[in-house]
Amino acid sequence: MWYKTFGKTGISLSTIGFGGMRFSRPERTDEMADIVRHAHGCGINYFDTAPYYCDDKSEEILGCAFAAMRRESFYCSTKCASASGDGLRRSLERSLRRLRVSSIDFFHIWCLLRPEHLEERRAGGAIAAALKAKEEGLIQHIVVSTHLSGAEIVPVLETGWFEGVTLGYSALNFPFRQEGIAAAARRNLGVVTMNPLGGGMIPQNAERLAFLKGPQDRDVVQAALRFNLSEPAVSCVLVGFSSREEVDQAVAAVENFTPYSADHIERIKGKISASFDGFCTGCGYCLPCPADIPIPQLMDAYNQKILGRDEDAIRDRLKWHWDLKPEQAGACTQCGECDDRCTQHLPVSKRLQYISGLRGN
Ligand code: SF4
Ligand code: SF4
Repeated sequence: MWYKTFGKTGISLSTIGFGGMRFSRPERTDEMADIVRHAHGCGINYFDTAPYYCDDKSEEILGCAFAAMRRESFYCSTKCASASGDGLRRSLERSLRRLRVSSIDFFHIWCLLRPEHLEERRAGGAIAAALKAKEEGLIQHIVVSTHLSGAEIVPVLETGWFEGVTLGYSALNFPFRQEGIAAAARRNLGVVTMNPLGGGMIPQNAERLAFLKGPQDRDVVQAALRFNLSEPAVSCVLVGFSSREEVDQAVAAVENFTPYSADHIERIKGKISASFDGFCTGCGYCLPCPADIPIPQLMDAYNQKILGRDEDAIRDRLKWHWDLKPEQAGACTQCGECDDRCTQHLPVSKRLQYISGLRGN
């Protein structure tokens, strides 16, 4: 297993992290915990979970596994989306009980979906409660998990409250988050990435994305992992596991892993733009929108259509990835400013019309 240092903490994290959001049979605690222990035996030392994952069973499964693992040999990560100080404290205490640990190594201020969410966490007392819990030793490192754009992440990291960030990053959406990763690197903050496979879009479109592969890559999945881990600031890529075999495959994928050269990364980035002339790359240059439409997020969902997927895939992407509804595209006034600004010359306003017309929302 390849390990990388997580920012200024000096902690070495396994480059593959265990994402505890994909247990296939969460009601079978022992069986699922066996997958966790297997991953630990394979060298994975970062285990990420959250309340509500897997019918709210994920923390208990990890706790069951942790009980049989030497405490010094792994790092646990969980999260809280409450804005109130009391809410955060209750959530933290429940996570500690369920994970069967006396301290959470990486505690996430969770789910910042809009810039104003950070101020809500401060005003509600959640940030102060996390800092207090850190002083008490119940939390080792406070980090933040977000779906904000790169530019929006910059001020979050500049608060100085966080030692690292967890964000979605893949070969498909890199322009949307690159600025956030650069800001983390400038401050020597750790970065963990989620959705390295573009929410499944990369393996589902392996043929079209074959150009991602370097000479050493067996498949596009390995290429997508290598793309993430070649970014110097990224320490760990989260992969959701539901079987021992999946663990083995991911661990094998980073065996003898070497980062891509800067040239190869640039070639991939160039080809992503060139090969997907209809594809929104998430660069964000269409913003700001006078009607405050979250254009890059809506266009990211529209990418599903370009990839040949159906309307449900667009709705699911909006709902589960961005917390948005198709009708929010209906607030577009069709002023056309975004069409003029789009770096890919996409018919953005027409696409928004299409999204707002999706039925059954
Ligand atoms: S066309 Fe719609 S989305 Fe684009 S800038 Fe105007 S209001 Fe915003
Ligand atoms: S719509 Fe165009 S400008 Fe806006 S994020 Fe997508 S590619 Fe970039």
